[in-house]
Amino acid sequence: MKNLLVVSNLHVYFETPAGLVRANNGLNLHLEEGCNLGIMGESGCGKTVLVYTLLGLQQPGKIITGSILFSGRELVNLPEAELNHIRGRQIALIPQNQSTALNPLLKVGEQIGEVCVNLNRPDIRLEGARRLLSDLGLGDIHSVEHILKSYPHQLSGGMRQRVLTAMALLSEPDLLVADEPTTALDANTRTTTLNILKEASKRTSLLVISHDLPALKTLCPKLGVMYAGRIVEYGDTLSLMSNPLHPYSRLLMKCQQAGDYLDIPLTGFESRDLLGDNEGCSFAPFCPQATGICFKELPLEVCLDNSRVVCHLYTQSGMKLC
Ligand code: SF4
Repeated sequence: MKNLLVVSNLHVYFETPAGLVRANNGLNLHLEEGCNLGIMGESGCGKTVLVYTLLGLQQPGKIITGSILFSGRELVNLPEAELNHIRGRQIALIPQNQSTALNPLLKVGEQIGEVCVNLNRPDIRLEGARRLLSDLGLGDIHSVEHILKSYPHQLSGGMRQRVLTAMALLSEPDLLVADEPTTALDANTRTTTLNILKEASKRTSLLVISHDLPALKTLCPKLGVMYAGRIVEYGDTLSLMSNPLHPYSRLLMKCQQAGDYLDIPLTGFESRDLLGDNEGCSFAPFCPQATGICFKELPLEVCLDNSRVVCHLYTQSGMKLC
């Protein structure tokens, strides 16, 4: 299958008073057309920076080096006017927090109207929005009309999520990015959100950024595990979950089985080297399988049958570099 998105060796750094923060630090990933990819990792591992870099909104972060190929087109260093054309049209974002992402002072219909004007698609203004809201499970035309005339605070969390998803889908994007779509939701709204995203994935490819492994399992046949600004393991979701290869993935899966959440860094296993220089494997200080080389050399990506892993354990056993 053709790749829709290929990110190669992406380095995005931030200058801060405390020093250089390497938020994306040699990140590789790919997403095939018509497929859904989940990216999992703890808070602070660089997931959200990746999202904003895909949209060309990483500033004040700087892309130091790397490539982002989207539908065969290089996005790094693309002029702002061209990026503007892709952003919101070909790549759309469902932002992180449905309770604050909508303008509280405007009715939903007016906000949808603004999106259509920004997209230069006045033709889809009401008809498209009505159809999408109905398709996303907001019921008959009377319910949809009621929503269009409501302010965000008059809607439930699930309804606001549907509205945001409908707004993102108005442009019929090739890629829909959902940033932490289930964070801070009650159980009912979480279930609704997952159903909405499943419905949305019939129309577009999804990139779902989350620490919610059950949600990723539901939505995404492919999964990448991120640590300290890199994807350290990539593969089929079910096989990665049942047989993780990277020592950090093994820890994550164990925590999930024990019911621990990952919205705060795991004590002692934080992506600590986002700040500072970059000798050896980021996970070496915590890794039960670390050897001398792990503290000196950055591991390279190894390609196995259906997966990729960044760890010296596999390079040392003579497996093929990607
Ligand atoms: Fe552990 Fe070494 Fe692999 Fe890093 S490279 S995860 S330290 S074994």
